[in-house]
Amino acid sequence: MWLSVRLTIIGCSGSFPGPDSPASCYLLEAEGFRMLIDLGNGALGVLQRHAGLFDIDAICLSHLHADHCLDLASYWVARRYAPGGPKPPIPVYAPGRAAERMALAHGLEPDPGPAMTDVFHFATLSAGTRRIGPFLVTAERMNHPVETFGFRVEHGGRVLAYSADTGPCDALTELARRADLLLCEASFLEAADLPGGLHLTGRQAGEHAERAGVRHLVLTHLVPWNDKRRSFAEASAAFTGKLSLAAQGQEFDLAPAGPLPL
Ligand SMILES: [Zn+2]
Repeated sequence: MWLSVRLTIIGCSGSFPGPDSPASCYLLEAEGFRMLIDLGNGALGVLQRHAGLFDIDAICLSHLHADHCLDLASYWVARRYAPGGPKPPIPVYAPGRAAERMALAHGLEPDPGPAMTDVFHFATLSAGTRRIGPFLVTAERMNHPVETFGFRVEHGGRVLAYSADTGPCDALTELARRADLLLCEASFLEAADLPGGLHLTGRQAGEHAERAGVRHLVLTHLVPWNDKRRSFAEASAAFTGKLSLAAQGQEFDLAPAGPLPL
């Protein structure tokens, strides 16, 4: 069986949707299983260019800032009111109170019970490793003002890591240790007096990737008002491996480690 993992960039715009990309959303596929990491605003529309609307098997939300989760409310509408009846529930791994927060975002009353659970089975994330379909997924707390998890996804001997939103932290370096590909946020450009514990610059993304021994660093969460070329230049000064800028629609195939199966 061919065990490669395909990553498709659905959305890579930082903090809000941009003219060329929705906010954060990444599609991971292996063995016919499709998992979304984040579902930020604008992502549900573009997702349908790359996957059937009802072909998603699981969703992981790194945190509950709008640019990482808000289209889950729209996806509830699609699954709940699908022609032919509601679609079967799929798991949604997210920080605590996600069901309540998403219900309120859509104008549903969370009482008497959590709404949206008819098509989503919410599972509260905590640090640690769990199996989701064919993937081994490790979640770790990042350095961001709200509870935020980065992810390390392993399959077929390959490793993909995702920083989510984070300021500098050792947890990111550990999560990305010897990853084949690190999707790392680079929201800030180098400047004096940047706020701490919030986001990374391109240089800081490069430093974390270099310390972790990452093979391929993909800068993402790129904010529309920044010059991406500066983010790339900052990272390239700190990172010696392969370096890319994320772009909507990009696909990355991670072939299995070792000899190819016959
Ligand atoms: Zn955030």
